[in-house]
Amino acid sequence: MEKKATSPDNKQSQPSQPDNKVLQPQTDSYSANPNQIVYDMVHQDDFIINVADVYFARKVLVLNKKDEYVYVKLNHANLGDKVYLVAKCYGTPRKGKLVLSLREIENTDTTQNLYSNNPVLFLVNGEEKTEIEYTLDGSITYAKEIELRPKDDKKYQELQEKLKNTKTKNTFLFVRAKIKETTAIRITFKSFFAGQCSAVDNLNYYDFLTENLNKFQLKNTRPVIVIDPGHGVTPGNEGAQARIYQYKLKGNNGEILKDAKGNVQTKTATVIDLPSYVLEAPDTWIIGNNDYSKSKNNKLDHKRTESNMVYEVSIKLYNLLLQKGYNVLITRNSKNVVKVANNKEAIYFRCDIANKNKADYFISIHADGLTNFTSGAHVIYYEGDKKGLELANDIFSCYTVVNIGKKHPDARNNVGVLGEKNQTKYKVLIELGYITHPKDAKSIYDNMDLIAEQLAQGLEININKHF
Ligand SMILES: [Zn+2]
Repeated sequence: MEKKATSPDNKQSQPSQPDNKVLQPQTDSYSANPNQIVYDMVHQDDFIINVADVYFARKVLVLNKKDEYVYVKLNHANLGDKVYLVAKCYGTPRKGKLVLSLREIENTDTTQNLYSNNPVLFLVNGEEKTEIEYTLDGSITYAKEIELRPKDDKKYQELQEKLKNTKTKNTFLFVRAKIKETTAIRITFKSFFAGQCSAVDNLNYYDFLTENLNKFQLKNTRPVIVIDPGHGVTPGNEGAQARIYQYKLKGNNGEILKDAKGNVQTKTATVIDLPSYVLEAPDTWIIGNNDYSKSKNNKLDHKRTESNMVYEVSIKLYNLLLQKGYNVLITRNSKNVVKVANNKEAIYFRCDIANKNKADYFISIHADGLTNFTSGAHVIYYEGDKKGLELANDIFSCYTVVNIGKKHPDARNNVGVLGEKNQTKYKVLIELGYITHPKDAKSIYDNMDLIAEQLAQGLEININKHF
């Protein structure tokens, strides 16, 4: 419920009373001295409120620190993006509320205006709002995640269309900040402005982000992303394959379990059903290795091919990016094999999809295979491709499902799909882990949703740098 603005004891923008002198340190004479302003900005005063700054931001984890975030200022975002609206407010009044609303900077050509002078609707936790209200409690930073769109899908689509049809394909938003229901004896904005008086509610307000240098641009440019589940093409193959292993049973004493005659007791299981002691030490407990041509104990698991595994991850990533509003394509949309003429074509058809659709991103998804129990994930980029290197690092920056291997990031010059034939600007090939390492394989099968989320997060770190 919305409370009505009341301001019986609101003394903002009035000269300070002589009685209050004692409450005001000398530094509160707001001179134009820039050092003075800096001093005031870190100063918490009773009964004086200074809304020092309001801006849009991205929340970023502080490197090497757990649970510590900073808000990095944004000068643009796309319609539909989730961003943080951050206010820095100094002063500790006994009472007071900070109210923020979004508006569009009006264009002289009114056909360019998206909101026709109406307040900008946005979502907070899925609920539609025209303003955010904070109770001032002595904190300095007030931040909330908002989604830059109205709730109604149709209205949202109309806005997207409108934005696309503007000449400049953008518009600018500013934030109006108001203080209400306060006992503060003085309110300032940016340390020295008293603000303008609103005729509607007789409160002073200040509009942040209206100056040319700090304007906030709302755009509708979203990258085209091609997700490429590896393999699944004939000719070619199903890629690597998980195994069904024969392993030694472990007795209560931690030793290999043997029967009365001294025979080693064994069992056979897929990577999904292997007990954890085998997953942790496959060299010790599995009989033989992944070299099925030599070790007859272990068979190929025809249900768990690389081709199917990477398809399942890819389709989840594809759907997630679609939900986030990106233009996404996938190079095959079923587990069934795509038929092409020869090996070269198997690579080219992927590149063709990317080239034809003028893709900005090409993400090929694979899992490794070896005859021994090597484990670990890595991302491959084309040797010398700086954009690929940056993307490789970004896309794995949130990946925790499989340990990241020593090879990461891996520069190669013999991966056709990343070569010149593929004109995509940002392209990498991800090896999620070894499907031939029981623990890697099980971790991937158990965490497909999480993998999709972590890859999307990593990709968005890169997108936010370039779009
Ligand atoms: Zn592969």
